[in-house]
Amino acid sequence: MSQKPFFVLANFKMNMDTASLKKYFSNIKKIAKYTPLGFAIPYVYLANSKKIMRHTAVKIGAQDCSAFDKGAYTGQISAAMIEDVGCDFCIVGHSECRKRGDSNADIQHKLEKLKNTNVSVVLCIGESLEQRKNHTFDAFLLEQLQTVFSTFDANELERVMIAYEPIWAIGTGITPSMEDIQATILMIKRMIADHYPSPMMMPKVLYGGSVNQNNILDIKENTNADGVLVGGASLDIEEFQRMIKNIC
Ligand code: PEP
Repeated sequence: MSQKPFFVLANFKMNMDTASLKKYFSNIKKIAKYTPLGFAIPYVYLANSKKIMRHTAVKIGAQDCSAFDKGAYTGQISAAMIEDVGCDFCIVGHSECRKRGDSNADIQHKLEKLKNTNVSVVLCIGESLEQRKNHTFDAFLLEQLQTVFSTFDANELERVMIAYEPIWAIGTGITPSMEDIQATILMIKRMIADHYPSPMMMPKVLYGGSVNQNNILDIKENTNADGVLVGGASLDIEEFQRMIKNIC
């Protein structure tokens, strides 16, 4: 079995509360040494999650941030605030946020705000089923990647991760074939390599969309994904522990 470090990033979306997070993280502390882990937490629980997981290597991050610095943006949370509570990373461009209206221009503003902090970026990209079927997904993914190209220089890529999440695989129980995941991640890495002058540090590219305890090992062993982004299956601590056990 390969020993490549495999980053498992859980996205809790709008789930959990103080008590369930405390219980969840006390179990995570027992398995945190087996593989690199990260958790994208609802804003209101970020500071406490960071406190619970201090002295561990587990990364804690936000699920989105504002495209603005500060001011009259009721309900929004800035990149500087996310840094202020000690977050390690922030997801940007999740398809659920894009569906609610985030354009690539909005996402680029968010990346620019995060660039002014020490918070790393996880940019989600992914095509619709129609784009997959009519073979326009490559141009679409490249357009989404341009937001990173326009924001980060080659020497800043260390703080960027890409999560390839086909929209049609999120929360559906359907995943692309391992061959398709492999081919698309290779294509994404080639697009990044083609954009930046070498030598450059290739960002980690994760796969996301219906990852669970039954397919995580296949993804680790049979694709070139550097890790996975897990939504629904991360909410049940027992399932999450089995996922980690299956890849270690
Ligand atoms: C996600 O929302 O990023 C995700 C991957 O969800 P799920 O694992 O539930 O498909």
